[in-house]
Amino acid sequence: MAKANYINEIEEVPQISPADRILLKDAADCFSFRANGYYLSLIDWDDPEDPLRRIVIPDPAELDEWGELDASCEHRFTVAPGLEHKYPDTALLLTTNVCGGVCRFCFRKRLFMCENRETTLDYAPALDYIRGHKEINNVLLSGGDPLMLSTGRLTRLLGALREIEHVRIIRIGSKLPAYYPFRLSEDGELLEVLARFSKPHRRIYLMTHFNHANEITEHAVRAVEMVLKAGVIICNQTPLIRGVNDDPDTLVELFEKLSFIGVAPYYLFQVRPTVGNRPYVVPIEEGIEIVELTGGRCSGLANRIRYIMSHARGKIEMVGMTEEEVFFRFHRAADPADRGHFLVYPRNPEAYWLDDYGEPSQELDPLEVLNAN
Ligand code: SF4
Repeated sequence: MAKANYINEIEEVPQISPADRILLKDAADCFSFRANGYYLSLIDWDDPEDPLRRIVIPDPAELDEWGELDASCEHRFTVAPGLEHKYPDTALLLTTNVCGGVCRFCFRKRLFMCENRETTLDYAPALDYIRGHKEINNVLLSGGDPLMLSTGRLTRLLGALREIEHVRIIRIGSKLPAYYPFRLSEDGELLEVLARFSKPHRRIYLMTHFNHANEITEHAVRAVEMVLKAGVIICNQTPLIRGVNDDPDTLVELFEKLSFIGVAPYYLFQVRPTVGNRPYVVPIEEGIEIVELTGGRCSGLANRIRYIMSHARGKIEMVGMTEEEVFFRFHRAADPADRGHFLVYPRNPEAYWLDDYGEPSQELDPLEVLNAN
């Protein structure tokens, strides 16, 4: 496999002028910087607003005081080193703190900052916990990017999970199909391992992170094709990112291209109010408008996303709004008492997160409504 040419210092990006490198250095030092030669070659360096440039090259406004390091309170759900258990059927394992690039809007940038010990290379306690919790039927490998692990290490981890009878689905969350698709297309051993562990009744899902259609190159399409041939299901999730994909035309192009190559558009996430994310976030009500304008413009297969906020209370869908009110619904609830609840708030165009709305004007339990009728 051709080795990726990783670049960890903004000073080593030849396409950025010396003056700009000085301007960007503080943000790069604060939140870390990483890219690779392949991904940098996809950027149109004559266009200061190139969307892929925005994904990976720092913006000085990242240093604005805003947000929290762990905006979704992931620490609250940590049950073993690197393992989070928020919803009964799902466990999330932080497998590594390395990625093929550092996305500027990353909500786990705390992992790349010094002194973070949330990830561990000793998966034994996490595996013990999963073994002991029979309600866990799917495990999400995340990080960092699990495909940055060596094929040997990943094989051992997948093998250990496959030995746990009640774990049916293994999800691998990875941006490498965008950052460096050769990781998949040029590692026959990895593809063989995926084929071995993705079984008819116990599939592996690859959760890709294509944020913009420009990332879906011929190399990426080839990697996707090989992964599909290995019997792996592929879904895509992306945040709605200011300056990258925050308009209906761009989203339609992304969702259509994904559906054409056999990747199901899955979640469209609200950018989390994480430290450093101020330049990348879109207000919720503007996001709802963009999603509204996207719907109906592409086939049902392309239009399968849910616009979701990964809140400490659960995955909350931003459903729609009227002139006065905005509506949310629990898609997944950390507290079973919240399951399926609708939340109604007075409009606030400045809101970026549920907490910006204060108290709901109404909270409806659809089961209660059904029973009352
Ligand atoms: S690939 Fe995921 S974990 Fe890695 S920097 Fe990007 S958003 Fe963060």
